[in-house]
Amino acid sequence: MTEESIEDVLIVGAGPTGLSLAITLRRYGIPVRIIDRAMQPSSVSKALAIWSASLEAMQGMNVIDEFLRNGARLNALCIGDGGRQLARLEVGEGIDSPFPFPLLIPQSETERLLNARLSALGVTVERGVELAGLSQDDDGVTASLSHADQRTETARARYLVGCDGARSAVRGALAIPFEGSTEPQTFLLGDVRIDGRVGSQKHLSLVESKRDRRPVSFRGGHLAHLRYARGRLCRRQPAHAR
Ligand SMILES: Cc1cc2nc3c(=O)[nH]c(=O)nc-3n(C[C@H](O)[C@H](O)[C@H](O)COP(=O)(O)OP(=O)(O)OC[C@H]3O[C@@H](n4cnc5c(N)ncnc54)[C@H](O)[C@@H]3O)c2cc1C
Repeated sequence: MTEESIEDVLIVGAGPTGLSLAITLRRYGIPVRIIDRAMQPSSVSKALAIWSASLEAMQGMNVIDEFLRNGARLNALCIGDGGRQLARLEVGEGIDSPFPFPLLIPQSETERLLNARLSALGVTVERGVELAGLSQDDDGVTASLSHADQRTETARARYLVGCDGARSAVRGALAIPFEGSTEPQTFLLGDVRIDGRVGSQKHLSLVESKRDRRPVSFRGGHLAHLRYARGRLCRRQPAHAR
């Protein structure tokens, strides 16, 4: 077991929340240490749109140019039934922001860009380091950290911030309830490549299968239709998406 020096802020979790906090603190000159139990950053899309207020926050972190360069502006939300378009909603109208549109960008890309910005500020995410427990006193927090190489560490910090996601160990250790409600629907999100015609405009298509009424969403492509029935995915695409 090793005892390390006192940090100002120990951030647990290097998802979008932890990375954004680390960048912001560093920009104010505050020393931070950021850990994540995962050995690698996530490689899947997860959250796929960034909205105006978040884009303004990206501007505050000096990463907006990279996001605009790597993302795609979402112009419209198209709702269809099979191959038939039922509705088209313009999404950017009337938003009072320098960025009056949602930006389509996979969360893995968001994390990559935020990671690069943090590295440029001199901070590297410590991977394979898990918060196992914590206690606090008047001067700060003592954290038990488990390293991937089986080493355990006791770290002290003036502040510890839990950015460790929905099943937060920090929230658990502090007995803070996870309030809210769970949506009953099942959603299916796929990272897929679609060959064929993709128009110049970026749309998000929500396609609902008539038979089983399960919505399926796609990023960036015009239209595809995968029927989701009885818990399994049946491969089926409209002719123009093949
Ligand atoms: C399949 C899927 C699809 C999604 N789609 C959307 C979407 O379309 N739109 C949307 O807005 N949101 C979506 N989300 C939710 C979105 O991904 C989350 O809101 C977002 O990741 C929250 O970011 P975060 O940084 O707070 O937490 P997370 O991204 O969960 O990051 C938490 C980090 O903490 C680390 N960690 C956890 N416990 C510990 C510990 N004890 N010690 C050290 N590290 C720890 C984890 O490894 C992780 O890297 C989706 C999520 C999933 C899973």
